Amino acid sequence: MSEEQGTIEKMLMQKPFKFFDSHGHPGLEKEDIDKRPGCIDFWCGNTVVARSMMGARAFLGDPNPSRIITTAEECPEMTSAVFIKYMDENNVEGMCLQAIHGITDSCPGYPDGWKWYVPNEYVKKQFIDAYPGRFTAVGGIHPRYGKEAAVEMVISAHECGFPGCKFHTPTSGYPNNPDMYPAYEKLVELGMHLQVHTGVEELPGTRAKYQDPVYLDDVGMDFPDLKILQLHCGVFNNPMQGLWNVMKFDNMYTDVTIPHPTLMHFKYYWDLDHMRFLEFFMPDKVFYGTDFPLTMAAYRSMIDNIMNMPLSMAFKHKLMGDNFRKFVGWNDSK
Ligand SMILES: [Zn+2]
Repeated sequence: MSEEQGTIEKMLMQKPFKFFDSHGHPGLEKEDIDKRPGCIDFWCGNTVVARSMMGARAFLGDPNPSRIITTAEECPEMTSAVFIKYMDENNVEGMCLQAIHGITDSCPGYPDGWKWYVPNEYVKKQFIDAYPGRFTAVGGIHPRYGKEAAVEMVISAHECGFPGCKFHTPTSGYPNNPDMYPAYEKLVELGMHLQVHTGVEELPGTRAKYQDPVYLDDVGMDFPDLKILQLHCGVFNNPMQGLWNVMKFDNMYTDVTIPHPTLMHFKYYWDLDHMRFLEFFMPDKVFYGTDFPLTMAAYRSMIDNIMNMPLSMAFKHKLMGDNFRKFVGWNDSK
């Protein structure tokens, strides 16, 4: 018999391996949630994001998860231990958490902008230090307080031991804003990477124009030595430009993270053509991520779906963990 695996062996002889989730959101924990600006709005109010979190509320034991809630006391019993529980149940070794810093433009209801802030120190204390070997994180950066403040945000993330920073365009504007350039230079100097949100967003006050991946082209051009993770690959907004950015720039990577797979999934990682495109053109430059806990209700089925797709096992290993471990030096840092 040939050494080559046949169809049956390829699909059914899967050896279990540990996954890595490149994209999770701390901050929505019930304890002191009203002290972290913006976080309560994920659960409370009659908004797109709060309604999309009703699935997570159901999984957290809320007997009436579709009721609109408005106060911190009514928020579900979310804790950092819930992250670990879901990771353990689903064979996820580690998760990269997003500390966040962002302020939107002025908008109805928020004349000074809607603010979202999950401090670096909070993420380090509640997650990284509390569960050694399970989490890494990126720090939040934005240019709303000026260039120097943005550089300080990079330094803060570095002092926390984070391997990179995240720029959340829907709140904070275009990523090619010249006010961000000194912060990008600092990232290169410190050997850190940059994560940039692209694609649609449903949080209060956010504007779609900032999220188009076409604006990352400038950053790729101007910072060839900066490793850039283009989050969400331009989902629903300009995915083709997102794919092209990764093909054009050696230093540009992407992920398959989408916050609401059943709302937004059809052309993304539940789509075999899309996954095969990634496998063919950029097998070493794409990461699995989930936006947990936004995707809590689908956490298991997201993994199962990819693992059951007719993609090569070599690519599944890369996508589901090894690419991101390499990107952040996970194994070297342990
Ligand atoms: Zn996210």
